[in-house]
Amino acid sequence: MKQAAPGWLVDRLLAWYDAHRRELPWRAAAGAAASPYRVLLSEFMLQQTTVATVSARFPPFLARFPSLEALAAAGEADVLHAWQGLGYYRRARALHACARTVLERHGGRLPDDAAALRALPGIGPYTASAIRAIAFGAPEVPVDGNVLRLMARLHRIETPLPAAVPRLRDLAGRLAGRRRPGDVAQALMDLGATVCRPRRPACPVCPWRDACRARAAGLAEALPRRAPRRERPLRRGLAFLLARPDGAILFRRRPPAGLLGGLHELPSSPWQEGPLAVARALGHAPAPSRWRLHPGPVRHGFTHFVLELTLAEAVLDGDAALAAPAAAIWCPPTELDRLALPTVMKKLLKLSEHGVAGRPAGAAKPRRSAWPAGGVI
Ligand code: SF4
Repeated sequence: MKQAAPGWLVDRLLAWYDAHRRELPWRAAAGAAASPYRVLLSEFMLQQTTVATVSARFPPFLARFPSLEALAAAGEADVLHAWQGLGYYRRARALHACARTVLERHGGRLPDDAAALRALPGIGPYTASAIRAIAFGAPEVPVDGNVLRLMARLHRIETPLPAAVPRLRDLAGRLAGRRRPGDVAQALMDLGATVCRPRRPACPVCPWRDACRARAAGLAEALPRRAPRRERPLRRGLAFLLARPDGAILFRRRPPAGLLGGLHELPSSPWQEGPLAVARALGHAPAPSRWRLHPGPVRHGFTHFVLELTLAEAVLDGDAALAAPAAAIWCPPTELDRLALPTVMKKLLKLSEHGVAGRPAGAAKPRRSAWPAGGVI
């Protein structure tokens, strides 16, 4: 099969995009210029978060911070709060720092220069390339996982990832600079997400079907090949849900830097590899009490490890002293939405009788007898 000319590929791709483009809340209408601020927001949100989640979270975030100036002027706690549900909070912090830097260094206008963009907090090569193509019409093809998959299949590249990445980038780069760079970038995103999907690609409706070498060879779903992934280590810990007799729950704030930096959490023992030593972990309890263990831990995947937290729950004895009273943040269960809680903490709260996330305010708490059978320490 002869290799298809880049011009033909772009023409077919754009014709398909004009007929099948996804309507997404951050996208400009067909033919209209994109707003650099919206592109910036969406690109930060879409790093490591699905389009479906971002589609739901983008409109309220934009309503709360309608301009780069409004975002730059906001307090960090407000930005983190509005970011809830999007995960990976360090991106929210970087976005906030980015807005402030654009205001200070560039008078509030996002630069269109690649080096200036990459000098901003949170903007790496891919995000800079996507902003330049979509917001400023620069002749670039931002290469993400969708584009790598498309190139591997279209050209039948059987070298496994990540070794094949430079070659795939080079092939994608040949599509740059022809027509409508922003639409080419977005069309590739859409084609990869809706047609050339990781599983069960819809080859019969693909605009590149006549040129696709993987399809011709019956290898569409098998590509791209990947080098075997290293297993993520499993860490375990004991999380403590301590309630006052009035129902308020004890939280603390994580240190500003590092994983889940600055977010609220239930106190817990250190997260360590190996089996959970409950007796030792209880030494990290925020106060002495009769701790009741929930059966079955909560699991959550982070980039570099998987976390398994077992929930221990107790009511504070009026005479008991807190281990770290200065760090204590007491929050009534009806006001949990005022906290910046990471997903893993929400999962824990759902386990408990205080798990009001998802329960309408004022709804009856489950009776104590409705607790799952667990252990009492
Ligand atoms: S023909 Fe199939 S495998 Fe090839 S690019 Fe299109 S959807 Fe992907």
